[in-house]
Amino acid sequence: MSARIAYTRPSITGRETDYAADAARNGWGAQCYDYIIRFEAAFAEHLGVPHALATSSCTGALHMGMAALGIGPGDEVILADTNWIASVAPVVHLGATPVFVDIDPVSWCLDPDAVEAAITPRTKAILAVHIYGNLCDLDRLHEIADYHGILLIEDAAEAIGSVYRGQRAGSMGAFGAFSFHGTKTLTTGEGGMFVTSDSDLYERVLTLSNHGRARGETRQFWASAVGFKYKMSNIQAALGFGQIERVAELTQRKREILNAYRDRFSMYPTISMNPEPRDGVNGAWMPTVVFAPETGVTSDIAIQAFASAGIDARVFFHPLSSLDMFKAVPSNINAWDIASRAVNLPSYHDITADELNRVTDVIATLMETRAS
Ligand SMILES: *Cc1c(COP(=O)(O)O)cnc(C)c1O
Repeated sequence: MSARIAYTRPSITGRETDYAADAARNGWGAQCYDYIIRFEAAFAEHLGVPHALATSSCTGALHMGMAALGIGPGDEVILADTNWIASVAPVVHLGATPVFVDIDPVSWCLDPDAVEAAITPRTKAILAVHIYGNLCDLDRLHEIADYHGILLIEDAAEAIGSVYRGQRAGSMGAFGAFSFHGTKTLTTGEGGMFVTSDSDLYERVLTLSNHGRARGETRQFWASAVGFKYKMSNIQAALGFGQIERVAELTQRKREILNAYRDRFSMYPTISMNPEPRDGVNGAWMPTVVFAPETGVTSDIAIQAFASAGIDARVFFHPLSSLDMFKAVPSNINAWDIASRAVNLPSYHDITADELNRVTDVIATLMETRAS
């Protein structure tokens, strides 16, 4: 029996382990922020934004950013029903109300028409999540946000390497948030990044991130607000600095893997995958296949077939509104329907051609047995 194929696994080289070892040996006292500063600067430059703040997670970055924007009780935040729980958790923690809308059937991201229809006098923000690296229709979402005087926030946790009309995902909203969880394209184990082009917002988040202690405050241990403690450690930042130096290679490889699958499955008109944006680049975090209804292939059938072949495929995100803590919105037809016939495929950096073939064989068998 061949070795099990993992669905994600980080790519850590001597560069990252050297930096991490250096941080562990020397990154204390006056040097305790050195890698954090370098990682933040390199990340901001990569993204093309003036401000980046390393955090303990993407969830923390979203929480602080939304808090700094004043999102709270009585406010509604619109987001796609298809999402990871982390995107909505900060909305709930802040006492605001999440409003789940349907997804576009091609991009699997927010359907702008559904967003527009969901706007009320209480709507405070649209949370645009670039799911699996696919890009939201930011032009339309910006138009809607500007027209109604509401905020547009980007959760770009899955979209490092994604580019929309020449601008990097995460750089186009009031703020953007990234994740460096171990499953993501660029990883620090756990970790995240808050990015913004708004200097005032950056200062507010910087203060919140340090337990409400403002930069330049001369009184020791003086907090001017109750803030958060969502910081990244210098040792994690050392890993991150090594990873961001390799970001072109890491995202290029993700695209190669997505394109390899795309080529192999192009013979099946009843399989669709992550779309390439018309005027941009898909960062290809998570290659995903959606089986057309007429194939009869469901997520359960596919996951079972992969498991039997020793392959770790994953289910498409459940609609958030299908979870027990929220009110079901089955009228979000695409979010509910697509999840029932889609799977994420293995896509880690060092996946071999043989392993890609094994994944392809499972798909081929599913298509043969089901389509006939
Ligand atoms: C991974 C992920 C998060 C959460 O990231 P953490 O670093 O684990 O907090 C948030 N949003 C999306 C879209 C994600 O994929």
